[in-house]
Amino acid sequence: MARDDVLAPDLVLVNGRLLTMDSQQPQAEALAIRDGQIVAVGATAEIEPLAGAPTRVIDLDGRTALPGLADCHVHLASDAGRSVAAVECRDFFDPAVQSVADIVARIREWASNTPPGQWIAARGSPLQDTRLRERRLPTREELDAAAPNNPVWISFGAHVVVANSAAIRERGITRDTPSPQGGTVVKDPRTGEPTGVFRERAQYLIRGKDSGQGPEVLAERIALELDKCLARGVTTIHDIIIDKEETLAYQKLARERRLPVRVHMIIRVIESNFQKWSLLDLGLLQGLGSDWLRIGGIKMSIDGGFTGRNAAFSRPLSDDPHGEHPGLIRIQQDELDETVLRYHQQGMRICTHAIGDVALDMILDAYEKALAAYPRTDHRHRVEHMGNWMMTPERIARAKRLGIVPVPNPPFLYFLGDPLVDMLAERWTVEGFPSRTLWDAGFPLVFGSDAPGYYPVDALRDLGTAVAHQTLSGARITPHETLRIHEALRAQTANAAWVGFAEHRLGTLSVGKLADVVVLGDDPLHSDPARFHQLPVDLTISGGRVVYERQTTGPAPQVTPAVRPMAGGCGCLH
Ligand SMILES: [Zn+2]
Repeated sequence: MARDDVLAPDLVLVNGRLLTMDSQQPQAEALAIRDGQIVAVGATAEIEPLAGAPTRVIDLDGRTALPGLADCHVHLASDAGRSVAAVECRDFFDPAVQSVADIVARIREWASNTPPGQWIAARGSPLQDTRLRERRLPTREELDAAAPNNPVWISFGAHVVVANSAAIRERGITRDTPSPQGGTVVKDPRTGEPTGVFRERAQYLIRGKDSGQGPEVLAERIALELDKCLARGVTTIHDIIIDKEETLAYQKLARERRLPVRVHMIIRVIESNFQKWSLLDLGLLQGLGSDWLRIGGIKMSIDGGFTGRNAAFSRPLSDDPHGEHPGLIRIQQDELDETVLRYHQQGMRICTHAIGDVALDMILDAYEKALAAYPRTDHRHRVEHMGNWMMTPERIARAKRLGIVPVPNPPFLYFLGDPLVDMLAERWTVEGFPSRTLWDAGFPLVFGSDAPGYYPVDALRDLGTAVAHQTLSGARITPHETLRIHEALRAQTANAAWVGFAEHRLGTLSVGKLADVVVLGDDPLHSDPARFHQLPVDLTISGGRVVYERQTTGPAPQVTPAVRPMAGGCGCLH
C-alpha cells in the first residue's frame, strides 16, 4: 500500500448537493470520510483528488445529501419485543382493515389455527374506532364469538385494550375487581360486569408482561427494526427503555459492533421494570456510553394518552359533553416533584410525557420547583408531546423561561389529525401544532414519532408534516403554523443533535463530525412535503459505513411534485 493510501479517505461523496446544516458552510458538493468521521467538506474539485487506491468514490450525480436524521422519541426496543405472534389489525400498516367485521374475521381465522386455551394477542391502531366503518371498537361479545375457546386481547395504541370473556376469566377479573390507580376497568353501568375495555394501567391486568424472550432474541428483533430506520435515513433514535432485557439487547448489539443506528436510551423510572431510584443510586447520567449507545436521560408519564381518552384536559373533549373522561393522572404531583427534584439535583436530564393541559402544567410546576431549589443551566429537560396543542402564550413563556425542550409529534397530525378535529375542536383546529410559534419563540424544535408500534419510523414523513400540516385525508390544520423546509430539516438533524447532548459530534456535515449521511433520491426542496413518506432514500451512511442502499431494479417510488407554494416561498436554501 502506498504511503498516501494510509491517509486516503475510506469514502468520498462527490457531485452532490449537500445541505450541511452548518451555518459556516451551508452548502457543498462533496465530502470525504475516514475512520468514521468527516475529514473534508467542499467542492468536488477539491475533494475528489483526496481519493486514493482504497477509497470508495460515490458519484451523487446531483442528488441531495443531508446529515443522518434523528427521531427523538421512539419505543423501538419495547415494540420489537412485542411484535411476535400478534394478529395484525392496524390500519396504518394494513389499509385493508376497515371495519370491526374485518378485525373479527382476522381473529376468527387466527383462532381456527390456535389450540384451545392458548392466548391470542392482536394489535390495532390508535383511535381506530374513529376510522372503522362501525365507528366503534369491537366488543367483548364479538371477540367471544370469534374465539370462543381462546383468551383474546387486542390493543388500540398504548392506552386501551379490549379483552374477551375467556381472557377476563383467565385473569380472575370480576365485577368486584377494582380499577388500579392510574387505570380503569370499564364496567357496564347496568350490570356492573367488566365490559372488556381496560384503560391505561388496567391494561396490565390483562396483558401481563410482554417480555421474557431473552436479550438474545430481542437483540435480533431490534436489529430488524433498526434496518427499517436506516431505510428512511434515520441514524439516531432516542428510545424509551422499560426493561433490562432491552438494555442487555442493545449492549449485545453494541458489543458485537452491530448497531448501525446511534441509540440514546431514555430510561423509564416509573411504570417500568426498574426500581425508581436505580439510576440515582448508581450515579449514572445522560451521556454515559459510547457514540453508538448511551444513556439519554430518564422518562416518566404523567397522564394517559388522548387516543384512549385518558389525557388530562381541564376542559372535557367535545365527544364527552358530560366530562366522564377527565383523564388519568398516573403520577401525583408529590411523587412527580420528588422524582424530578432528586434526579435534577444529581444532574440527570428528565423527559416527561404530558398530553393534556393539566399534565403540562404539572410538569412545568415540577421543573420550576426543582430549578428554583437547584438552579442549573443547560439541563435540557424535555416535555414529550408538548407542542402538539394548548401552547398558550403563558405556557410558552414559562417553558421558555425554564429552558424546557418541547418534543411534539408530527404523526399525531398526519395519522390522527382527522379525528382530533372532532375531539379537540378549536384546541386543534385553531391552536394545534404551533410549530411556527414555537420556532419563532426560539425553542430548539425537534420531533418524536412515538413509532414503531402504531406506524413506522419515518423522520422524512414527520418533517414533511411539519411543513405541510396535512392529515392522512388531505385536510390541512393550522396552515399559518407551518415550518419552512430548511427549518424542518434542521429540527431532525442539528437541533436533534443538541437535544441529544451530541452537538459537537452529530447534526451537521462538518469536518470532525461523525460521518452519518443520508442521500435522497429526490430533491426535498422541490417535492411535496405532504408526500415525504414516499420520498426515496437512496443511501444511508452511518459511522462512515454504507449501511443502506436502495435497490434500484424495481420502479422508484414516485413523489408527487409540489402542487402549491410552501410557506414562506419555496423554502429553498439558495
Ligand atoms: Zn411515547
